[in-house]
Amino acid sequence: MTAKTEAIDQIWSLEALRTLYASPLMDLVFQAATVHRAHHDPNEVQMSSLLSIKTGGCPEDCGYCPQAARYHTDIEENALMTVEQVRTAAERAKGLGSSRLCMGAAWRNVRDDAEFEQVLDLVRTVNGLDMEVCATLGMLTPNQAERLAAAGLYAYNHNLDSSEEYYKEVISTRGYQDRLDTIDNARRAGLTVCSGGILGMGESVDDRLKMLLTLASLRPQPESVPINALVAVEGTPLEDQQPVSIFEMVRMIAVTRIVMPKTTVRLSAGRNTMSPEGQALCFLAGAGSIFAGDKLLTTPNPDAFADLELFQQLGLRPTAPYAKGEKPSLKADPGPPETKTKIKWSRPGHTIERNEAKRK
Ligand code: SF4
Repeated sequence: MTAKTEAIDQIWSLEALRTLYASPLMDLVFQAATVHRAHHDPNEVQMSSLLSIKTGGCPEDCGYCPQAARYHTDIEENALMTVEQVRTAAERAKGLGSSRLCMGAAWRNVRDDAEFEQVLDLVRTVNGLDMEVCATLGMLTPNQAERLAAAGLYAYNHNLDSSEEYYKEVISTRGYQDRLDTIDNARRAGLTVCSGGILGMGESVDDRLKMLLTLASLRPQPESVPINALVAVEGTPLEDQQPVSIFEMVRMIAVTRIVMPKTTVRLSAGRNTMSPEGQALCFLAGAGSIFAGDKLLTTPNPDAFADLELFQQLGLRPTAPYAKGEKPSLKADPGPPETKTKIKWSRPGHTIERNEAKRK
């Protein structure tokens, strides 16, 4: 067994992750950078774009999200985008260096309806532009995952957000196991998996590490793990949360890199308040991707030209599409299930005081 496969097959414990996280920062970053160099080109960073194809009006109660219909935020709701709208956005993103387009819809779960047919067309369109196509549409059945794969989807994003325990403090309308099941459905359909979390929701370091442990224990490990810093939006239950420090982000990225050596670690939301030096430290610790474009779904992100300048200053190259996997070829659509068996996604429904307070 080579050193590379050994690292991937390693079974991690919470104790081992705690030790890594608490080690001196210089040692931790050095170890993470060493792992990063063994599996990735350290001077390549993938630019991805996140496009909200259907904005707002979501029935869920995720405490961090301005798109939840029950909170009073000032986002502009939008119906599902057309093929032409998405093609224009994708071409613009590609022109600015993005090799992946992630399309997000504010849904609890995918339904077998006309809107899903439209999403399949959107996936085919972006696949035809030679960009990696990712989608984040909520919970997904095995059949829906197979249809997305046949349409040329490359990756499915479904974040765990936090540890199973802390997840219950943030969201009451859906269950953690449903998230793991959706990830499994995507994986079984042959899609690559993108799943990560959010720092700064009031969780402990242990919650963050438990989430990482769950992700690192998946076989295969996710190809992509976004690490987000909460962007606290006025009107949401988490509007008063203090921002996480750059060193917490760096530590989390470094531990993610070490326990999931082949994964692309994505420095995601929260970059708009990070200095160029802070971002450079994140790249050194193993971040291999950023989300480019002036918006991340609905929250602010650094200007695309500022990112290009940062790349130039650091001597970074944007990663080409499909650098880590083959472009999916389009297959015949298996179509919706012949008999409609309704999958019952769970709805825990416990009371989260701060969510209830914001609803009122
Ligand atoms: S995070 Fe997704 S599921 Fe949760 S409220 Fe926002 S759009 Fe809805």
